[in-house]
Amino acid sequence: MASVSCYTFRPTSRPRSAGSASTAGTASNSDRLIPDLVDRWETKLDVTVPKWTIRRMKTKWGSCNRETHHLWFNVELAKSHPDCLEYIVVHEMAHYFERNHGERFTKLLDSQLPDWRTRRPSTQWSSVGS
Ligand SMILES: [Zn+2]
Repeated sequence: MASVSCYTFRPTSRPRSAGSASTAGTASNSDRLIPDLVDRWETKLDVTVPKWTIRRMKTKWGSCNRETHHLWFNVELAKSHPDCLEYIVVHEMAHYFERNHGERFTKLLDSQLPDWRTRRPSTQWSSVGS
């Protein structure tokens, strides 16, 4: 887990960006939005996200380590709509409370993000996260 190629953000630090090469509005989209979203939902859900990482993943939009509370987000989310991005953030944070995508998980999403069903990514892998 420690050796994957990825880049990590901390709430107070901004990612290094090369300045001109990256395509504005795509690559930088999630860079700006995710810190805000994590921040906002930490308050709403009364939880702390100790660490989160954006990396390439082939089959998931996001993932959650329930032991360390470390969250991962797929770099492809940068191309997604902000509403969709928010759904993934909330989805992964909801795993702090519920391990599986069962009824209680759905109820939690319903209470926190009532329109979550319409926010799901258009590309559906076998599961959104873990
Ligand atoms: Zn999930």
